[in-house]
Amino acid sequence: MFIHHPFEVPGRLRSMDETEALLASLREKMVREQIMARGVRDVRLLEVMREIPRHLFVPPDLVREAYQDNPLPIGVGQTISQPYMVALMTELLALRGGEKVLEIGTGSGYQAAILGRLARRVFSIEKQESLAPRARERLRSLGIDNVEVIVGDGSAGLPREAPFDAIIVTAGAPDIPQPLLEQLADGGRLVIPVGSSGMQTLILTIREGDDYRQEDKGGCVFVPLLGKHGWKWSDRPGTRGGTCAG
Ligand code: SAM
Repeated sequence: MFIHHPFEVPGRLRSMDETEALLASLREKMVREQIMARGVRDVRLLEVMREIPRHLFVPPDLVREAYQDNPLPIGVGQTISQPYMVALMTELLALRGGEKVLEIGTGSGYQAAILGRLARRVFSIEKQESLAPRARERLRSLGIDNVEVIVGDGSAGLPREAPFDAIIVTAGAPDIPQPLLEQLADGGRLVIPVGSSGMQTLILTIREGDDYRQEDKGGCVFVPLLGKHGWKWSDRPGTRGGTCAG
């Protein structure tokens, strides 16, 4: 049996319109079968995930895999997270549109693009200098102008812009960094994978005055959060924690 790849039409090239229609249908399938089927219900979020062209955030040779149910490599040992994990973490932030958000781990910029469409202002910090310009360019090309990408160690947060209504950490930490708890606004929500280098638990923290209520949102595997309040370079766990699965 011969199976044609979905991006190929036997005997001819696919037109731009056909390609766009195909990509939109793959996005729709991703939203229905990977995200809604697992219980994500936030209507605004689902709409944004239908719109943002995830294939523009992966390396050119992986465009055909952009809508699959897994993380993908983006270079320098880093990954773009699994679509469901992006949706789950974003839904946990309960964004309504007026928030100031901090993301730690810009990576490809895909999560930042989604946050940009759902919140008022987004600051996204990336430790790997080479990833930031590409993320900025992708956001610019999509007309998303409320996201600022900053190069630095996000494990210390961003004191100059604190407090934040929502903080999302897209790398796995040994513990919740204290500066992030301090930079959370009253009523604010922080979502972060916490655990060993090979396996973490997604923890949602909601600040209520001086109280920090925590909820366990299930297992996950992320690349490590390196830095002052994350893993130290010396205990860097090689490449085995190199995916963001859900
Ligand atoms: N959110 C990204 C996306 O949508 O493509 C995926 C992030 S990837 C799973 C984790 C990212 O966290 C990597 O790009 C890594 O370089 C970054 N990172 C790790 N430690 C960091 C730190 N202390 N500060 C900022 N970024 C960090």
